[in-house]
Amino acid sequence: MTNAKMDIHNSKVQEIANKLHKKASYGEKAHIDKGGVQHVVPLPGDTRRAGKPIKIQELKEILEIDTKKQICCAEPGVTFSRLVKETLPLGLMPKVVPELEGITLGGAVAGCSVESMSYRYGGFHDSCLEYEIIKTDGEIITVSKDSFLFEMIHGSYGTLGILSKLTFELIPAKPYIYMQYKKFPCFEEFQKALYEHCQKGDYPFIDAIVHGPKEFVLCLGDFTDSPPYISNYRWLNIFYKSTRKRTEDYLSLYDYFFRYDTECHWLTKTIPALENKLVRFLIGKFVLGSTNLIAWAKRLEFFLKLKRRPEVVCDVFIPAKRFQDFFDWYKKDFDFYPLWVIPYSFPKLYPWLNETYARNIGGSLVIDCAIYGKINNLKDIDYSQILEEKTVELNGIKTLISRNHFTKEKFWSIYNQSHYEKAKSILDPKGIFPDVYKKFHRK
Ligand SMILES: Cc1cc2nc3c(=O)[nH]c(=O)nc-3n(C[C@H](O)[C@H](O)[C@H](O)COP(=O)(O)OP(=O)(O)OC[C@H]3O[C@@H](n4cnc5c(N)ncnc54)[C@H](O)[C@@H]3O)c2cc1C
Repeated sequence: MTNAKMDIHNSKVQEIANKLHKKASYGEKAHIDKGGVQHVVPLPGDTRRAGKPIKIQELKEILEIDTKKQICCAEPGVTFSRLVKETLPLGLMPKVVPELEGITLGGAVAGCSVESMSYRYGGFHDSCLEYEIIKTDGEIITVSKDSFLFEMIHGSYGTLGILSKLTFELIPAKPYIYMQYKKFPCFEEFQKALYEHCQKGDYPFIDAIVHGPKEFVLCLGDFTDSPPYISNYRWLNIFYKSTRKRTEDYLSLYDYFFRYDTECHWLTKTIPALENKLVRFLIGKFVLGSTNLIAWAKRLEFFLKLKRRPEVVCDVFIPAKRFQDFFDWYKKDFDFYPLWVIPYSFPKLYPWLNETYARNIGGSLVIDCAIYGKINNLKDIDYSQILEEKTVELNGIKTLISRNHFTKEKFWSIYNQSHYEKAKSILDPKGIFPDVYKKFHRK
């Protein structure tokens, strides 16, 4: 890393640290404002951004890519799209690349991240080696993999300290991907094939789309140097629909990473006109793509107040051995498709999880089931709530990106209260940022 780059980084970080220190000494409350779009579900009366903003938009530089050691050092505001545009020409890629172009390195660590290599590597944070963190008293510290504070930053959702620099591993990449779509008419066969491929590790990329209760598509991706053709799903064509019709496909690696971006998975489905080719031809460039779609959702936030409840947009991690129980319930009581399925392997028991709860997961493989867009307007059934209850009944873990219903007791039976309080007392002793339960709890 050049000295000049590092000097600029250090002075930006010092400036943010000074601001935080000032807020702390006045006893003010604050939230992290990283700029860009947030990949959380807009909610009426949102309190997640309560308190004064601590602006960290300036932290968006890639500081170094060491091609020999295959590591990268970068600021947290770098998006994965920007990052892979820099690493791919060097024949390298991060171990985990979340599928939406605007997700940032810092957000992926402090929130959550999953993708089709997660069955090998877990989340993006599992490939990180070192973090620089700004404590709310203004001290700047560096923590390494396996240390207590390092491990507690994952899933802290901006409630402990500010991540200001990350060092993480890269792996070799090839420019194209050969996709195979294996179709299954029943859950048992699908699950068997999914688990076998995860065990064998015979494809670098594994995820699946359930298009209906009898329509399971396992998506297996492998690197290739010389594709016979390359498909494009950035404008008129729709990726998730192609997996129903095709049995194989070729994509550039960049387009593979962000294959769900154009539709923000399938959120365009909630406005059917956006799936029409003519409409896509005319206005696609302005409205398609996750960053556009989330920005539009934010602009139209007012309309949320007219709905009984927002749509269900949530990832739940179900223990592999309970996946069948989950799906049996899902097809009967939830019945919303497509359902995105991503196998995810915990390299270790994450210390932000309550130990007893984590042990009861009963193995390192979990299945992330991502429900994106279920309408939730019935008077007597709140689908967000029943999804949360079912997830906990099956000893799963729900991400906090949407509505949460946990009582305090239930929440701390899943998350590790003593570990969280210890990390809070070191990183944010005056409680400038809200506590994680408070930040996400609302009716
Ligand atoms: C519709 C939708 C689709 C999604 N699809 C995917 C997907 O395909 N793959 C995937 O992996 N994930 C997906 N996610 C989840 C997403 O990765 C996480 O929500 C992630 O945390 C978003 O990161 P962000 O960069 O947008 O940060 P934000 O959404 O802005 O922030 C996320 C959290 O991190 C905190 N934070 C941000 N930067 C910092 C920092 N520098 N220091 C400390 N805390 C910080 C914020 O305070 C906030 O609590 C999806 C989420 C939604 C809502």
